[in-house]
Amino acid sequence: MRELIEKLVKTSDLTDSELKLLIDNISDEDLDYLNKLARKKANEIYGKQIFVRGLIEFTNYCKNNCYYCGIRAANKNAERYRLSKEQIYECCEQGYKLGFRTFVLQGGEDVFYSDDLLCEIVKTIREKYPDCAITLSIGERDEESYKRLFEAGANRYLLRHETADKHHYQKLHPENMSFDNRIKCLETLKKIGYQTGCGFMVGSPYQTTDCLVKDLRFIKNFQPAMVGIGPYLSHKDTPFCDFENGSVRKTLILLSIIRLMNPSVLLPATTALGTAKSDGREKGILAGANVVMPNLSPVSVRKKYSLYDNKICTGEESAQCRVCLSNRMKSIGYEIVTSRGDNINFIKGDNKNV
Ligand code: SAH
Repeated sequence: MRELIEKLVKTSDLTDSELKLLIDNISDEDLDYLNKLARKKANEIYGKQIFVRGLIEFTNYCKNNCYYCGIRAANKNAERYRLSKEQIYECCEQGYKLGFRTFVLQGGEDVFYSDDLLCEIVKTIREKYPDCAITLSIGERDEESYKRLFEAGANRYLLRHETADKHHYQKLHPENMSFDNRIKCLETLKKIGYQTGCGFMVGSPYQTTDCLVKDLRFIKNFQPAMVGIGPYLSHKDTPFCDFENGSVRKTLILLSIIRLMNPSVLLPATTALGTAKSDGREKGILAGANVVMPNLSPVSVRKKYSLYDNKICTGEESAQCRVCLSNRMKSIGYEIVTSRGDNINFIKGDNKNV
């Protein structure tokens, strides 16, 4: 196993069967070794600095019915909300004061936010904060829409592919959703010039190790700027309510493998990881992650953006979240930094929109 890990460090790759072996059979001792080497790789590229993104969950209306997600359209128990433009700007203002230089606007696929409205929001934020990055995470849209939003000033887009196995994708989503379209959207985003993020849930229902190997292979080929992964966590009002949560251990294995296969990728230690285990995000950083995404949404709506049960950080003000995360990072010897935190390849000038 050690030889495999060393090969992974040296060549930034393994064969599919080696990856499978590593994921399925790694011992606790070797996992510790793998996590340390992945952390070392992150240090070499990004140092001991952890980037922060201010997450603004601006709507929990969604037209989709993903079987795993708590804000799916068919969940009649979800209390729906939308933030007004002014509320969104207020979140940014607070965030800016707290040192955030990236705003992530995330939401369900909510048709209320037309291209015109979203472009107006993006433009306003862009004009007010020319030194900040604007990230969108609002699902599948058409090419024209992605283009307009990019031209309005958005720089980055997070769209998890959810799984790179078509058959598995169909088990996680209703028939009207398509794996091919999801992948096409990712390709379009990249082509337009967004710093594009993909990702998946670890331990989602019906996921096999072969699915995970396909995820790793997809990421290696797609070369995203970011990869968001976290454990699948069940939500009581979804068709998947009886499935077990994904494991923190497996998430840590995958974070490290992703770091070593894609050394310069931006890799968040996600809220889901912090929800699954109280020191999950710290463990994620120590396994090679280098981004955290504290919540900037108004406290009044935080509980309502409930993708899974027991989500953390739903009661605190943004400032408290910022301090709490900062202390958590300090406790493991890391420092949160105030900067846009671009992927190193984009800073080098591969992309004009930075
Ligand atoms: N509508 C947007 C944003 C989705 S929410 C989009 O389609 O991209 C962001 C991510 O949360 C999803 O991509 C999914 O991977 C994750 N998520 C949703 N439900 C989850 C659950 N029950 N457990 C863990 N992660 C979940």
